[in-house]
Amino acid sequence: TVGAVTLATSGSMAAATSTSGLFMKKAGRVGDSPVSGSGFYVDSPIGGAAATGLGEDIMKGCVSYEIVRLMGTGLSPQAACDQAVYDFEAKLKRRYGRVREISVVAMNAQGQWGVATNVEFTFSVATETEAAKILIAHPGPDKTTK
Ligand code: ASP
Repeated sequence: TVGAVTLATSGSMAAATSTSGLFMKKAGRVGDSPVSGSGFYVDSPIGGAAATGLGEDIMKGCVSYEIVRLMGTGLSPQAACDQAVYDFEAKLKRRYGRVREISVVAMNAQGQWGVATNVEFTFSVATETEAAKILIAHPGPDKTTK
C-alpha cells in the first residue's frame, strides 16, 4: 500500500491510499486501504493519517481514525502514531498471541508529521520549507532514521 496525507496552503487536508491488497488474497477480499477510518482518515482542522500492513488487523483497530482522534486530544502526530500502533499491537498480542505488520503516517493541521511501525518502513516527507526526503522508520517510539 502507498498512503499519503497532504495539507494545502488553504488549510484543507486529504489522505489517499493505493494498494494491490495482499499477495494470494482471496477474490473479493477488501482490506483496510479503501475503508475510511481504517486505511485512511482526515479531519482537516485536526489532521490525517494513512496505514499499511495487514488489513484484517488494521481494521480491528480503525487505526487511522484512532490516530486522528488522538491528535484531536492534543497529541503530536508522532505521539499519536506511537500510541495508536504500539497500544494496538500490545492488544493484538494479548488477544490473539500474534501480530502482523502495521505502519502508519500522519500529519496535523500545523504540518507536523509522525510515523510508527512494528516492522521497517520507508516513507517520504516534503514540506514548504523541506525538500522531499526519504526516511526509514524502525519499530519503537520515535525511531525514525535517515
Ligand atoms: N493494507 C493492505 C491490505 O491489507 C496491504 C498492504 O498494506 O500491503 O489490503
